[in-house]
Amino acid sequence: MKQYIIVLGLISEEATRSFFGIKRYAQVKFAFTINNISVNQHQMMFLTILLTIGGVIIAIIIGNPIINDLRREHWRRQPFSTRWQQFLEQNVPIYRHLPFLLKQQLQSHIQVFLAEKQFIGCGGLDITEEMKLTIAAQACLLLLNRNTLYYKDLSVILVYPTAFIVPREVKDNAGVYSQERQVLEGESWAIGKIILSWEDVKQDTDSFGSGANVVLHEFAHQLDHEQGSTNGVPLLDSKASYITWAKVFSQAYQQHCSKAARGESTVMDYYGAKNPAEFFAVATEVFFEKPRLLKDEYGQLYEQLRNYYHVDPSEWSRAT
Ligand SMILES: [Zn+2]
Repeated sequence: MKQYIIVLGLISEEATRSFFGIKRYAQVKFAFTINNISVNQHQMMFLTILLTIGGVIIAIIIGNPIINDLRREHWRRQPFSTRWQQFLEQNVPIYRHLPFLLKQQLQSHIQVFLAEKQFIGCGGLDITEEMKLTIAAQACLLLLNRNTLYYKDLSVILVYPTAFIVPREVKDNAGVYSQERQVLEGESWAIGKIILSWEDVKQDTDSFGSGANVVLHEFAHQLDHEQGSTNGVPLLDSKASYITWAKVFSQAYQQHCSKAARGESTVMDYYGAKNPAEFFAVATEVFFEKPRLLKDEYGQLYEQLRNYYHVDPSEWSRAT
């Protein structure tokens, strides 16, 4: 009996990540056994080349996430300068309210975020360190305590000096489409980019606690899109979680729409009544900016957001 054993490759990567106490170990072994097959030298060589190419492709697919993890771990370990810490303490109010350990975690996330995402100034705006830190700090607030992908579909953040104008195709009640120009302070694209008005980012950051925060809003849309569509349902961990989420959010959304229609006072902006995706983004703003008020008005909704974001802002100092 002829037996050929072709070992294509052995890839052994052992990486220990102290972050969140997660230890990772990956070992990939490719081995193929061919029994009772009569092959000549050329066929054998062809088969070996074919399997080697296949093995390399598989190794790249499996190896990329491991390399990404190692690279991010390297960035997370970079020292966070005193100047940056002072800047956040003085200019990003929500940072001051965080418990010490969350501050440290946020600093690590900011390092990764700034290393991976590109900032581009538009409309004559020069991007400064202040702009990058202000945006990154609030974007990374949504990643705390989570096994995050760091907004995997996002690569570029475009920043305009003020609100920007975009053309939009709108449909009236008769179903007729027309073009109109909308003035926006922020916009999240499903793939690749977020657009922000620096004037509005600065204003919302300075008035933390007002309930409005364009950075939290647009980055919540990015999280919403992680499961493939932007519909108010982000990536959850189980079927049961999706069922509970759908029930609680549907109920709260209907209540909010009714309040908006009646002009009734509510902790959330009426803009959340536009559709479920906007409701999730607006609820995220209020969850971090007015957690106790949201908890009082929409207790179950608050609980779902607390489970999803893995933090409880109502326990942070000076929360309203
Ligand atoms: Zn929105």
